[in-house]
Amino acid sequence: MFLGHFAAGLAAKKLTPYTSLGTLLLSAQLLDLIWPTLLLLGHERVRIAPGTTAVTPLDFVSYPWSHSLAMAVVWALLFSGAYALIRRYPRGAAVALGLVLSHWVLDVVTHRADLPLIPFGGPVVGLGLWHSMPATVGVEALMFTLGLYLYKVNTEPVDKIGTHAFVAFVVTLIAIYAASLFGPPPPDEATIAYVGHAQWLLVLWGYWLDRHRVAIRQW
Ligand SMILES: [Zn+2]
Repeated sequence: MFLGHFAAGLAAKKLTPYTSLGTLLLSAQLLDLIWPTLLLLGHERVRIAPGTTAVTPLDFVSYPWSHSLAMAVVWALLFSGAYALIRRYPRGAAVALGLVLSHWVLDVVTHRADLPLIPFGGPVVGLGLWHSMPATVGVEALMFTLGLYLYKVNTEPVDKIGTHAFVAFVVTLIAIYAASLFGPPPPDEATIAYVGHAQWLLVLWGYWLDRHRVAIRQW
């Protein structure tokens, strides 16, 4: 899942107006931001195997530290704890906690059964939405539309950048998603790890554009 995670971050702005969109996207995508680093370090493994599912050519051989349920809870507690300490905004910390966990739940819906519960073997889960291209695109498009709508109606631009950076952000996300669906598979595993780190730019983009928009409903 790609757009669905960003949708969760966008929608969450309504719940926590003083939290930057950058932080919300970082929370929603935290597990996928940790993952490429662990791939590079050799602690996790992925294989390129076109046909593994209808949607992704990636076979997630092993990702116990970024994508097990137990570690998702650990990352969620660490991240929201750090946020609470730095920002002293309990509402934001609670939403960040929920967003990190939402990543795992949404991945369970999407991935085939390859998500571990604990990092030391044991059962794996996954409902396999990715076995159907139309169902995946339908669900992600619906979620993304809803997330965009909620972010848009709960914030307003304070200058032109607030409008244009938001539109460009949406177009970029859709372009990345389309390329991942219809483009060729990545040439090798190392490329996946390197390109995966580029997702940090989307988080930075979220921080930048959020500085040019203001939450309409403050509380
Ligand atoms: Zn993931």
